[in-house]
Parts: sequence; C-alpha cells; structure tokens
Amino acid sequence: MNSKFQKLLLISFLSINFCNAQELSESDLDNERVAPFQVFDNLYYVGARTVSAWLLESDQGLILFDSLYGELTALAINSIRDLGFDPDDIRYLIVSHAHYDHVGGARRFQEEFGAVVMMTEADWNMVAEPAIDQEYPKPIRHLSASDGSTLNLGRTRLRFFQTPGVTPGVLSTRFTVYDNGYPYDAFLFGGAGLNFSGSDRTELYISSVERIMQLEGIEVNIPNHPDVADVFERYEILQERQDGDPHPFVDPESWNAWLDLLLLGAQAKLERELGGN
Ligand SMILES: [Zn+2]
Repeated sequence: MNSKFQKLLLISFLSINFCNAQELSESDLDNERVAPFQVFDNLYYVGARTVSAWLLESDQGLILFDSLYGELTALAINSIRDLGFDPDDIRYLIVSHAHYDHVGGARRFQEEFGAVVMMTEADWNMVAEPAIDQEYPKPIRHLSASDGSTLNLGRTRLRFFQTPGVTPGVLSTRFTVYDNGYPYDAFLFGGAGLNFSGSDRTELYISSVERIMQLEGIEVNIPNHPDVADVFERYEILQERQDGDPHPFVDPESWNAWLDLLLLGAQAKLERELGGN
C-alpha cells in the first residue's frame, strides 16, 4: 500500500511494549476504553486501546479472539452487547497465547457464557503453571488446537497454525473476512512480540515468522495488539471511505513489510543473545 503505513508501522514497532499488562488504575482504564466498531461484514473490534479482542460472526454463532483481562474483560463484554450481539452466542474463544493480557478473561467467558476455550496443548500446559506475568482466574481445560487443524462453525472455517516464540504454543489463525460480500484472506499472528528471553526461543520465533512468510495470499493483518498494524488509523480511513475506494485493512504490502520487520527485529535479538550481550 503506501509509505505512510510503513512509517507508522516502524514507529509502532519501535515504541510499543508488547504484553505489558499490569493492574489498571482508574485513568488507565479510561485510556483503554474504545467504542467497538465493525471492520468487515463479519468482523468487529471489541478490544481495548492497547490489546485486541476480535469478534467473528458466523451463521451459527460467534467466535471471539482473545479475552482481555481484569476489568478490560468487562469492557469487551459491554462492547459485544453495544454492537447488538449476545455474549451467550459466543461458541468459541480462541486464545492467541497464554499471557495474561490475552487469556486473563477466559474463565469468565467459560463460566458466564458457556464459550468453549481453545488454545494449543503447549499453552494449556502453561495455563496450568503459575503465571509468569500476573495471576488470573485459570480457565478449565477445554479444546486444544493443533497445528494444521481446522475449526468449522456453520460456513465459517478457521485454519490453525502453531507459531511458537513468545510462548511455546502461540496459536495463529487464518480465516476469511468479507467486504460487501467480497472475500479476503486474513491472518491473526498470535504472538508477534519479542518480550521473551533465550536464544532457543528466538530461533523458534524466527522459524515461525519465516513460515508465515511462506503463506500465500494473505491480504489482511488482524493483530492481537492494535498498534502493530495501525488498527485505529485504518478505521479512521474506513469511516471516510467513498464508493470505489479500497478497504484500508486490505493491505498485503504492509503485511509483508511487517513480517520483514519482525524478522529483522528477531534476528537482531538473536545476535545479541548469541553475542552474550
Ligand atoms: Zn499481549
């Protein structure tokens, strides 16, 4: 697409603190509030300012990507209701990785709304251990998503990839979004952050990014932290879109540029780790 997003992308990449979840003060909570919005015919943003939750609508119920955490989970639930949906219709909660900011509210979606929680076996194992970041109500082990598996809900199909790095079992998902009925291939990379240590893990991360780079036909980046793919900036453009304008989230060039950037960042990290700095 254009250089504006690539520039934004770089700034986001350099400045953002991935997965920097802490107890929220009242003013933090205010800063996190975002009115929910529709991005595609079947996809809605119901997340917060710094961490995403995405709602995918199917003909047989809803799929939620990530649960937020603490009081932000209530924010997501309210957002789902504000859009006119019933959280009881959430059939599956897909957890991108077992860090507090993504999995912290999972138990609540299980208990209050009967959502089936899915993550990889490796990250379910992580959930069973003491949290590395911050404790949270642990979800009861539901379904495991394995690499190469699919989930069908009505006519909606999700394809899963295990892309380890930030956790051993990062779960990425490929699915179709529609713009006025026209389909596009979207990808949610479940763990783009470099907030982990150890060269072994960094090598895994690099393999994951290289593998994602091999996937053909991805046109839409659905990030689990909104800043890394300029979700709010793109939404502003979407709101002013005229007939015939392209959809601002359909941007394969910046998807590829982002992956290049992730790879460079990880390679630099690996060099530091192997150099002992
Ligand atoms: Zn995170």
